[in-house]
Amino acid sequence: MSEQANPFESLQEQIDDATEYMSVSGDVVERLKHPERVLETNLSVEMDDGDVEVFKAFRSEFNGDRGPYKGGIRYHPGVSRDEVKALSGWMVYKCAVVDIPYGGGKGGIIIDPDEYSESELERITRSFAKELRPFIGVDKDIPAPDVNTGQREMNWIKDTYETLENTTEPGVITGKSPDSGGSAGRVEATGRSTMLTAREAFDYLDRDIEGASVAVQGYGNAGWIAAKLIDELGANVVAVSDSSGAIHNEAGFDPVDVKSHKNETGSVAGYHGADEEFSNDDLLTLDVDLLVPAALENAIDGDLAKEVQADVIVEAANGPLTPDADDVLRDADTYVFPDILANAGGVTVSYFEWVQNRQRFHWTEEKVNEELERIITDAFDNLVETYEETDAPNMRTAAYVVAIQRVVDAYQESGNWP
Ligand code: NAD
Repeated sequence: MSEQANPFESLQEQIDDATEYMSVSGDVVERLKHPERVLETNLSVEMDDGDVEVFKAFRSEFNGDRGPYKGGIRYHPGVSRDEVKALSGWMVYKCAVVDIPYGGGKGGIIIDPDEYSESELERITRSFAKELRPFIGVDKDIPAPDVNTGQREMNWIKDTYETLENTTEPGVITGKSPDSGGSAGRVEATGRSTMLTAREAFDYLDRDIEGASVAVQGYGNAGWIAAKLIDELGANVVAVSDSSGAIHNEAGFDPVDVKSHKNETGSVAGYHGADEEFSNDDLLTLDVDLLVPAALENAIDGDLAKEVQADVIVEAANGPLTPDADDVLRDADTYVFPDILANAGGVTVSYFEWVQNRQRFHWTEEKVNEELERIITDAFDNLVETYEETDAPNMRTAAYVVAIQRVVDAYQESGNWP
């Protein structure tokens, strides 16, 4: 994985690229490229042995023109201020491309959660929630899970907020477990939108998804669900990976069985059905019909892109391709369907969760999946229409054109505040 690309610079470059195909003034473009505010805080937390450790944490609120800031909280040693800023910007354009009424935010703690006990993680999370309390709120800023966080952390944040505010407000955070106000279908939502995007992409390109060979980088929430659902369309998942390495079998894997192996052993490595094990770079350059990067940003840089052989890439991760990689892949006629559409299922079902929380009402999983499918397929149709109408060089730029126009319209319609 490339270390060079700064994700915030990548975001800014993507915005510049898109605004070349739109009529929007330079000062407005400048506004679209920077967060409105970033909280940086140091959490002092007592460890199990009585020592106090300090953790740096961030929350970036990028743009609220279309609604409350929305975006996940990541626990990872690689979290940085610029990464959080980039991820919060991508959330703005992701919410806009699928046309849900949110702005964008993102948070993170610099931490390797594997090194801490559950009770330490609870204290760290509650400490962060206490710092976030003045910023978040059901109509202000609504966090959600991201890498290395899930229902457990969301339940803790909700409980901390509700305790301090002396209220019940489940819609302050999404991605909760069902008994704490979570939505049916939320856990599968990101991978589901990746599957729907892949399905629509193959249809648009007049290719058969049935029998298509697929490689998936990253076997966490987004990657494994995408693998499972794409397999259910009749495609053949021939390679998957996680941070321990990649496994390959030309005949294809049963994604559910690989997941059981990962649950038991902690990684996909050593899976009995693998013909060979190789590196993540080998997986990313396999000759497959469809590649799904579902790990972290900057997985494919310009150099690695020259070796990519996949015909279609559908991005489940946020920012897995650097702008240089985009240029190389465009010249190679590789279709890249961008993250802001292909992983928007997570935030879309988070939106459904928030709607249900506000209504104090529950939707069935069928209704959630049906509404999600409608939103993703409508957004896909809008994207390809814009791609064809604007001469945008690739699907990513077309997606930004759609999204940026919506943000600009909301900003300009609201007039000026002195
Ligand atoms: P996760 O923590 O559940 O899984 C991440 C996976 O990536 C793990 O299997 C990990 O081992 C693997 N990984 C890490 N480094 C790797 C490397 N160098 N090579 C190969 N694999 C590697 O996280 P997730 O929730 O699945 O998120 C993955 C990506 O999807 C992130 O970019 C995240 O921002 C994005 N995303 C997630 C959601 C969601 O709802 N979970 C929503 C939108 C976007």
